Amino acid sequence: LVKGAYWDSDTIRYRQRGWPIPLYERKAQTDLNYERLVRRLLEHTDVIRPAFGTHNLRSLAVVEATAESLKLPPESWEYQMIFGMAEPFQTAVTARPRRLRIYTPVGELLPGMAYLVRRLLENTSNESFLRKEYVESQPLSALLAPPSSAEPAGITPDSVHTDQFKASPGEFQNEPSADFSQEPIRHAMEEALCRISARLDHGWSAKLPKQSAPSSEELLTRNPADPSVIVGRLRGYAASDIGALVETAKKHGTEWGAQPASARVVLLEKAAALMRERRYDLAAWEVFEEGKPWHEADADVAEAIDFLNFYAGQMSRLSIPQRLGEAPGELNHRLLSPRGVTAVIAPWNFPLAIPTGMVSAALVTGNTVLFKPSERSLMAGQLLVEIFAEAGLPPGVLQFVPGGPEAGKALVLAPEVATVAFTGSKDVGLWILQQAGSVSPDSRMVKRVIAEMGGKNAIIIDDSTDLDEAVAGVLYSFTGYAGQKCSACSRAIVHQGVYDIFIRRLAEAVSSLRIGIPRHPGTQMGPLIDERALARVRQYVEIGKSEGRLLVERKPDGAGYFIGPVVFVDIRPEHRLAQEEIFGPILAVMKAASFGEALDLANGTAYALTGGLYSRTPSHVEQARLQFDVGNLYINRPITGALVGRQPFGGHRLSGVGAKAGGEDYLLQFMTPRVISENTLRRGFAPTE
Ligand code: NAD
Repeated sequence: LVKGAYWDSDTIRYRQRGWPIPLYERKAQTDLNYERLVRRLLEHTDVIRPAFGTHNLRSLAVVEATAESLKLPPESWEYQMIFGMAEPFQTAVTARPRRLRIYTPVGELLPGMAYLVRRLLENTSNESFLRKEYVESQPLSALLAPPSSAEPAGITPDSVHTDQFKASPGEFQNEPSADFSQEPIRHAMEEALCRISARLDHGWSAKLPKQSAPSSEELLTRNPADPSVIVGRLRGYAASDIGALVETAKKHGTEWGAQPASARVVLLEKAAALMRERRYDLAAWEVFEEGKPWHEADADVAEAIDFLNFYAGQMSRLSIPQRLGEAPGELNHRLLSPRGVTAVIAPWNFPLAIPTGMVSAALVTGNTVLFKPSERSLMAGQLLVEIFAEAGLPPGVLQFVPGGPEAGKALVLAPEVATVAFTGSKDVGLWILQQAGSVSPDSRMVKRVIAEMGGKNAIIIDDSTDLDEAVAGVLYSFTGYAGQKCSACSRAIVHQGVYDIFIRRLAEAVSSLRIGIPRHPGTQMGPLIDERALARVRQYVEIGKSEGRLLVERKPDGAGYFIGPVVFVDIRPEHRLAQEEIFGPILAVMKAASFGEALDLANGTAYALTGGLYSRTPSHVEQARLQFDVGNLYINRPITGALVGRQPFGGHRLSGVGAKAGGEDYLLQFMTPRVISENTLRRGFAPTE
C-alpha cells in the first residue's frame, strides 16, 4: 500500500482531458484513506500479507496500533522503505523487531535517474511528511496528529473533487472524451450499443427534409467486424441527379446568406447540444459501421461537437465588420460574404467529425451545402444531416447526397458550385484541384478548393529518448483505428544507437496488443473498413516482405476484415513502404546514423502532414521545430488525436491546400472578403465618429 506516487503527472493528465480528478487533492485526504486501507488490509491477513510503503511516522504508528488491536503476529505484514531514506525509522522498525524490506532502483542509468528525481520531488514537496519532519522540525504531537485536524472541516477521503481545468465563460473548451473507466459511462455505452444494434440496416431517415430523389443503385455499409451484418442501406445519387440538387441549393442561398450571423451561430450551438445528448448512440453507430473501438468512436463524436462550438465562436468574432486604419475623413471596412454553393466531399475514417467540421464551417459562413459522405460511412453522414434538421436548419440549405465517386465528380464539375471542401486521398484531391483550375468560357467564377489529403507520417526516435514512452507512442500511433487515420504513423526512424533495443521492445509491445471486435470494450485494435482496404493492405504486406525484414506479423482471425499489425525493419528511403500511404497497421522501421539523417529521412516524401519526435536532447527538439517539415509536429507524445482549437490540423505539400481545420483561419476560406472605403469628408469638415 503506497500513496502519492505519480500524483503530479496523473493530475496533469486528467486536467488535459477535462475530466474530474479522481485523486485526492489534499494530502490529509490521502493520509486518511491510507489509514482506512491499513485496517482493511490487516483485517484480511488470513488471505494476504500486506506490505506498507511509507516513511510517515503517523502512518507507521497506525499500522502498529491496528495490528496490535487485531492481535496480529509481526510476521503477518511488512514495511517497505527506500535505501538511504529516513534511516532512523528503519532502525526503529527493525529493532522492534519488524519485517522491513529496503528497496532501491537497479538497472539502466537514465530511467533510474528519472525515478530518483520523481521520488526526490515527491519527498520534498511542501506537504511531504519527510519535509515536515526533517526540514521544519515539527513537534512529535503535530507529526502524530490525525490527518484531518490540520485541514478545513468536512474533508473526508470521499469529498468530491471539482478542480477541473476551467476556461473562462464564452471561451472555447474542448468536449471531454468519455472516461470509460467509470462504470456508469461504460453502462451508458453498453446500452447505446444494444439500442443501435436493434436499428441496423436502416433506410433513408424520415427526419430529413424532402429533397429531389436519388436515382442510382442502393448503397450498403456493413459491419467490418462481421460483414454479414448490414448497417446502412440507402439509395445513392447518380451524376445526372446533381443538377437538380445544385438548383435547390442556389435557390436557398440568398435567404440563408442574408440571415444574421448570430442566427447561424445559434444553430451550430443547438446542433452541438443535440450531439452531446446522443453522444453514446452516435459512437455506437461508429462501432458498428466503421469498426471503431469505443474510445476512438467516442473521440470522433467529441471532436464533432468541438467543431460546432469552435466555429460558432469564430463566426461570432468574424461577423463584426473589421475597421481598417484610423485615418480621419475615411471609413474602411472589411466585410465577409458567403462564397455560394459549397460541395462537401468527405472520407469515412472520421465519419462524423470531418463532415461536421466542413459542413458547419460552410453553413455558419452563410453558404448552402451539398454534402456527400463517403459511400463507406452512410449512416454517420445521415445522422449528421438529421441533427442539423432537428436543430432548425431550413430545408434546402443542407442537402444530403449519398453516392460514390461519380456523384462526387458531378459535384466538383457542377458550374454553380463555388467551393469544394474535400478531405480524402491525394489522387482524388489533386484531380479536384485540376478540375477547379480549368475555367470554362461561360463560367463567372474560379472555384475554390480546400483539400485535406494523405500523409506518410514519421516518428523519429532519438538515441536519448525514453524508450518506454517511445515504444508506447509509436505503437498507439500506428495501430490506433488500425492505422486508418490520416495522421497515423507509418514510418519509425530510429537512431542507430537505440535501433536494436527499440525494435526488440516494439515487437513485444505489438505482440501484446489486444485485437478483437470493436464492440468489446477491451479491444485496442479492430478490423479495416472493408474488403477493398484489406486487399490493398495485404498487397503492401507482400511488398514489405520483398523490401525489408519482417519483424512481427500478427494474424488475427475472425470473420471481419482483420489484418496485422505488421512491422518491417531495415526499410530504406527508396522502398515503396517508405514512400506510399498504406492506410493500415503497417509500420516501416528505418535506421538513421545521426539525428540530421533522421530528419532528412523524415522529410524525404512528397507528403507533409504529421510527424513526431521522441527525444530528451533540447538541441534536437529545437532543430526539429525548425526543420521537421510537417503541418502538425508532436514532440514526446503520440502523433494522432489533434484537438480542435488546441492543435489545428492540416498538412501542406501533397498533404493538402488550405487553412488548418479547427484553427482561426479556417472559416475565412468559405467567404469572400470585400473592402468598402467611404470618404466621410464633407464640405469643410468630417463628422465625428
Ligand atoms: P477517397 O479519396 O477515396 O474518398 C474521399 C471522398 O471522395 C469520398 O466521399 C469519395 O466518394 C469521394 N470521391 C472519390 N473519387 C472522387 C472523385 N473523382 N471526385 C470527387 N469525389 C470523389 O478517400 P477515403 O478512402 O475516403 O479516405 C482516406 C484518405 O483520406 C486517406 O488518403 C487519408 O490520408 C485522407 N484523409 C486526410 C485527412 C486530412 O485531414 N488530411 C483526414 C482524413 C482522411
